[in-house]
Formats: sequence, C-alpha cells, structure tokens
Amino acid sequence: MGRRPHIPRHPRGPPSPSRSTPPPRILAGSTPVGPRGYGPPPTTTAGPAMTGTAVTLRTWGIGHARTLDDWTALADRFLSSDLKCSPVAGTSADGTPRASGSVRVATWLPSGPPSEGGTCPGASTYCHRNDTGKLTCYALRLERGRPTLGTLVDKRLAAWESLTQGEKVTLAAAILQRAHATQTQPGALSAHAGHPVDRPAIRLGAGGDLHDVATGQAYADALAWAALPESGIDDLRAWLYSRSYGLDGLEDPLGPIADGIANGRLPNVAAYLSSDPSMVDRTRRALAGRYSHLPVAVLADTPEDGAAILDDLRGTDRHRSILCPTDRPHRPLAIASRRTTEPYARGICTRCRACIDPARGHDRPLDVVFVRR
Ligand code: SF4
Repeated sequence: MGRRPHIPRHPRGPPSPSRSTPPPRILAGSTPVGPRGYGPPPTTTAGPAMTGTAVTLRTWGIGHARTLDDWTALADRFLSSDLKCSPVAGTSADGTPRASGSVRVATWLPSGPPSEGGTCPGASTYCHRNDTGKLTCYALRLERGRPTLGTLVDKRLAAWESLTQGEKVTLAAAILQRAHATQTQPGALSAHAGHPVDRPAIRLGAGGDLHDVATGQAYADALAWAALPESGIDDLRAWLYSRSYGLDGLEDPLGPIADGIANGRLPNVAAYLSSDPSMVDRTRRALAGRYSHLPVAVLADTPEDGAAILDDLRGTDRHRSILCPTDRPHRPLAIASRRTTEPYARGICTRCRACIDPARGHDRPLDVVFVRR
C-alpha cells in the first residue's frame, strides 16, 4: 500500500550519470569560490528543466535560485534538527534536552523503500518492520506521526529532483556550509550563544538514504569541495549509514562517496555499510569488492546477534566494534544530556564520536552495532 497517497509524488529525475561524470564547475580547482564559500550556480540554467526548477522552488518562495542567498535559503529548508546527533540542544522547561531549532545538523529525505515513496532503495524489510509488520524505522515513524514533517520531506525530494546535476552539487555544498554555520556562528538567541561549536559535524540521511547515483555524486563532489581549506569549512565532518550498495539494476548511489574515501578525496567523511540479519550476503559481497575499506553498521535484535553478524561478515579479519551506548541493555546513555558544567545540552553522538571519527585512535575504523527496537 502506498505511503501518504494524498501527497502527489514527484517523478524521479533523469537517468543517473555514470561514475565517470566530470565534477561540476563549482569544484574545479581554478573555479572562484563565492563570498559565502561555495561557487555560483551553473550558468546553464535555460531550458525546460530549469523551468521546472523555478516552478518547484517558487512553492517555497525562492523562485529561480540564482543568487547565493537563494541557495542559502534553500539549504536551510533541507536541514533538520537531530537531538541525538547535535552538538547543541535546547533545554525544556522541565530541564530535559530538546532539539535545537536553530542548530540544524542533519539531512532528511522521505524514508522507506521507493515502493512506499521513500528514498531508501537498499531498504530491507528487517530495517523498517518487525516480524508482526509493526513499523520499526524511527524516521518513518516520525514522518507518519508528524504529517508536517512528512510533507516537508516530500517537498524536499520534489525540489531536489527538479535540479540539474550542477545545481544539486551547489545545493549540497550550501547545505554543508549552512550546517557548519549554524554550529560555529551561533546567533544571539541560540542555546550556544557565545559558545561556537569547535568540532562541527553533519549527519547525512538522518531520514532516507542516497536514492540514486546522481545524489551520491552530488554529495561526493560537495564534500570534496568542503574538504579544501579554501572552502572555509574543512573542519566539518560528515557521516552516514547507507544501504544504497549492491542493488539489482541500479548503479550504487553510495559508490561515489565510497570511492572518494578510498582515494583520499574525502578525508572529512565516514560512511558505513548499513546491514542487518537479512542482508548479510549483500554486505559480504560489498566488503569483498568496492567497499572493503568501509566500516559496517549492523542493526540486530540483540547486541550478541549484532556481534555474531560482524563475526560472520569479517571472519578472521574482524574489526574492533562498539555497541551504540544508547542501545546498551543495561544503563543505556541518554540520547542527549547537559552536564552541570556545560552551558547547553548536547546530543550523545558528539560526546561519543565513534561514528563521526571511526578511525580515531584505531588502525582501522570501528564497526558499530545498533539494536532494533
Ligand atoms: S555509537 Fe556513538 S556516534 Fe555512533 S550513533 Fe551511537 S552514540 Fe552516536
């Protein structure tokens, strides 16, 4: 059954470019970088595709995105707050942390398999439903429980799909830059006013996944630009868990980012092969080939099951691994907390950082285990 059938779905974009697609102008070494740190949108803006872009973006009052301010405004609409991942959280009246409205550290597109309107072509049934059919994917549950969120992420996808490849790179770069700015340039009313974040990070795909290779290539190119000192945001780290690999009939959306990590173009990114008990063979094939350098993130029913899957996948070449501290069976850590000495609350990921810097202090990046709820 289709998801939210009353919401018209935007058709998927043009065929994805091949892996050999040259990087758009914005990332060429000699390309002037704009005053906000990312280049201007491509000049090839005429024609039917851009007419569609203008119509789609106008629904958000942005019109035909041409100026840097346009791209900044659009980037803001593509960023979400994420309490667990954020280095800054607000505090509710009862003292509990709440997601900051001003610090946006996550991208989020519609979750779930494409057959249900989502952007997760590599989704397994296990990752979003339990044996009784109950929804277990936290992102999909949030989208369905909060219709405004579902509508927002649908609009994001429609706007993204209406862009040319060069525009996608520009928007992805603007998204990275805005995520960096909200952390390092706190506004006067932000929870971290006067306390800029010193290690900014962005989680790609807090909801949804890389749904086509054009999207994977756009983020790979934007992240490569972000890694350059002249970008002004080379201290931004990005991380993602993706199942967009080893798909039948679809060029791997994760491929461009995985290749960029392998060849050193993306020193600012940690990408995990997301897996679970139902897709061990697919992950094993991935580790035997193009993705041998990536860590694995396993979703399982218990920590022991997750460890057993890693044993199976890695064999004698087992990496060290960590159980996400929020999934510990005993004394799990809260997803956000505020220490008495701290001026504001923080999400657990920016304290733990196991997924943000998986190779820090280790000869090989850590694998990670999550427990399905
Ligand atoms: S292991 Fe650490 S960094 Fe990774 S998701 Fe859990 S808390 Fe966040």
